[in-house]
Amino acid sequence: MKDVQPKGSHFIDGAYVEDTAGRVINCVYAATGEVVAKLHSATPAVIAQALDSAKRAQKEWAALPPVERGRVLRRVADILRERNEALSELETIDTGKPIQETLVADATSGADALEYYGGITASITGESVPLGGDFVYTIREPLGVCVGIGAWNYPTQIACWKSAPALACGNAMVFKPSEMTPLCALKLAEIYVEAGAPAGLFNVVNGYGDVGAALVTDSRVDKVSLTGSVPTGRKVYAAAAEGIRHVTMELGGKSPLIVFEDADIENAVSAAINANFYSTGQICSNGTRVFVHADIAEAFAARLVERTKTAVIGDPLDPETNIGPMVTDTQRAKVLEYIEIGKSEGAKLLLGGGIPAGFETGNYIEPTIFSGVTDDMRIAAEEIFGPVMAILTFTSEEEAITRANATEFGLAAGVFTNDIKRGHRVVAQLEAGTCWINQYNLTPVEAPFGGVKMSGVGRENARAALEHYSQIKSVYVALSDVESAF
Ligand code: NDP
Repeated sequence: MKDVQPKGSHFIDGAYVEDTAGRVINCVYAATGEVVAKLHSATPAVIAQALDSAKRAQKEWAALPPVERGRVLRRVADILRERNEALSELETIDTGKPIQETLVADATSGADALEYYGGITASITGESVPLGGDFVYTIREPLGVCVGIGAWNYPTQIACWKSAPALACGNAMVFKPSEMTPLCALKLAEIYVEAGAPAGLFNVVNGYGDVGAALVTDSRVDKVSLTGSVPTGRKVYAAAAEGIRHVTMELGGKSPLIVFEDADIENAVSAAINANFYSTGQICSNGTRVFVHADIAEAFAARLVERTKTAVIGDPLDPETNIGPMVTDTQRAKVLEYIEIGKSEGAKLLLGGGIPAGFETGNYIEPTIFSGVTDDMRIAAEEIFGPVMAILTFTSEEEAITRANATEFGLAAGVFTNDIKRGHRVVAQLEAGTCWINQYNLTPVEAPFGGVKMSGVGRENARAALEHYSQIKSVYVALSDVESAF
């Protein structure tokens, strides 16, 4: 295994920082259980250093001409692309996701965000409002110091999706990765400095949940953007509210993928595979409730099982591998427990359901398909966050919509149909922030991404994210005399 030990556990003010007084974080390669790096959770002194330096850098950054700021972001995009191979390998070691995925979905998606926001930095402007003589102009100002807190599944992408719009708007960011995947964001911090960002503009502090909690309540912080589970979201949202801080919450889901009887079955099967087994099922927007019209349910399930059987399980660093291990053994244990729950609830196990033969080492788990699932089963109602697909059947459009919406979540939804009117009619009624017609899980930076209901607040990506990293100052300008009563 390549040496991935960073020069320090944190990256602050343009350099690696270490404080061994912090609790040890073991960084484990999920395929073998090997400890590949040892870091230390941030101490209060490290957190203070990160926030102070971000506060200083933010002032310097916001004072630069926007076109110069944009240029720095675009340079970051170029470096990310140049080093895609090395960064993808690190992402694979950090998360256990197959290299065939990380090469196309992580640093590259991060680079898209940096390029997109670098390109629009200079056009983030206010407006002029005529009042018939007097007028108002508005200035779109940065919020100040933003805290980003990430989940483990897309450590590079999450850090880029949060930092690119934040920095484009003139903010600084302190980012805390999940302690399960602490390596990738440190590389991004190095690259920001190399691309010309002021030291301190993007700091990374590694640590457990308590480090995130300390950041969220600090008076130097103006905004918190979290990607994580609903229970953590609740805590972070409440803590941020104490200081009336801005928030973005990208939380969990249990999204529906509805396949109508007129759908192209082969495409719908491909989408169901991507929506459940990509990244070994560890994706927030996954379409884990696959509603299939009763007329085609048997054919759909047969083809799905046939194709899923061909998936190559293996070492994620092997380019042939389609399915790698889960991020941790704890996460896998949780998924295995849900599989047992599914069986005891009476769902029919069509495929998988256990640890694949020959993969007793590492956090491997088989891609698993249940059919005959009903809405009241826990495997249909709760987010599993692993490779477990539930197939449910329906007979009418209205029924599919009602049942798809019968959840506390609202992150994403997909519809497969060849009837163009039906496609639009159905998505118009689905309670989800991100919908696909005849596609699933594509999240280009040009499209806003985020959830409704318990799945979140705010949007990432596209111009929509700028609204969440800036605030408007209104300036009234009088050209006339001031009237007063006396
Ligand atoms: P968690 O909610 O467990 O953790 C998310 C982050 O919050 C971690 O960095 C965690 O640190 C930190 N954290 C935990 N407690 C606190 C606290 N009290 N205050 C501040 N920060 C805290 O999520 P997971 O890492 O388990 O990720 C999986 C979840 O993320 C799933 O629900 C998934 O759906 C969701 N997700 C949502 C996405 C979206 O865009 N909507 C995208 C990807 C994932 P630590 O890890 O050290 O505990």
